[in-house]
Amino acid sequence: HGQVPPGRLPGGGIPGVQHIIAVASGKGGVGKSTTAVNLAVALAQRQGLRVGLMDADVYGPSVHRMMNLQGKPRVDEDEKMIPLVNHGVKCMSMGFLMDEDVAAVWRGPMVMSALDTFMQRVRWSPLDVLVIDMPPGTGDAQLSISQRLSLSGAVIVTTPQDIALLDARRGCTMFRKVDVPILGIVENMSWFVCGNCGHESHIFGSGGAEKAAADMDMELLGKIPLNISIREQSDAGAPIVAVQPDSAAAQAYVSVAERV
Ligand code: ADP
Repeated sequence: HGQVPPGRLPGGGIPGVQHIIAVASGKGGVGKSTTAVNLAVALAQRQGLRVGLMDADVYGPSVHRMMNLQGKPRVDEDEKMIPLVNHGVKCMSMGFLMDEDVAAVWRGPMVMSALDTFMQRVRWSPLDVLVIDMPPGTGDAQLSISQRLSLSGAVIVTTPQDIALLDARRGCTMFRKVDVPILGIVENMSWFVCGNCGHESHIFGSGGAEKAAADMDMELLGKIPLNISIREQSDAGAPIVAVQPDSAAAQAYVSVAERV
């Protein structure tokens, strides 16, 4: 309401970055990082945008593996870290800087200062879009990112059960509290596609995401199948949107990217 929230970075943003989109989830393991990675690649490769991907999931970073990037970023003359690039996306992840096991035992203030470093001491500019792979859940780290940056919007990733358990709704409530527009929800693992015969089964039923989106007054940006290629390509550091762009699974991400 015209008031600058406490702790907001000067200008509310990262210099030279047009839009910042947070990819969030109510809990871990729902496919948030997989979605963030494929969304970033789709925005870069399909829409020709200049895209960055910040892995803010400092307790369980995965962007470095999913994007097949390793090594320490170089530091430029302004002492800003230069993101590593693959599949046309500039990336920064705690996975570049340290052992994941170390970050996993960090206390809150260390996490906050790592996130501050990613916001302020990385040479992101120039970018059309910065995608942030948020930490799972709705705690202090999520709140702090949402307050320090003026986010263009948030994408909430859910699974059908997650919707049933209302975890997704907690995420929506948090963003609404800090006045971040919710771009919509992505239902991941919506149905199962057999890797052998291509048969589709709606294991968790269907229609849940549509109903939840309507209940929460949000757009359903898309549904992603549970598909072995998505998992295998992720593990291999070659996101499905980059390497199997014509597959139905890749198309599902591309159509989400067109709607954000
Ligand atoms: P989160 O970021 O929510 O913790 P991840 O993106 O790391 O979740 O995904 C968890 C696991 O599920 C990973 O092994 C990933 O490859 C797999 N996965 C995510 N989405 C899909 C999908 N649609 N089909 C198959 N496997 C998936």
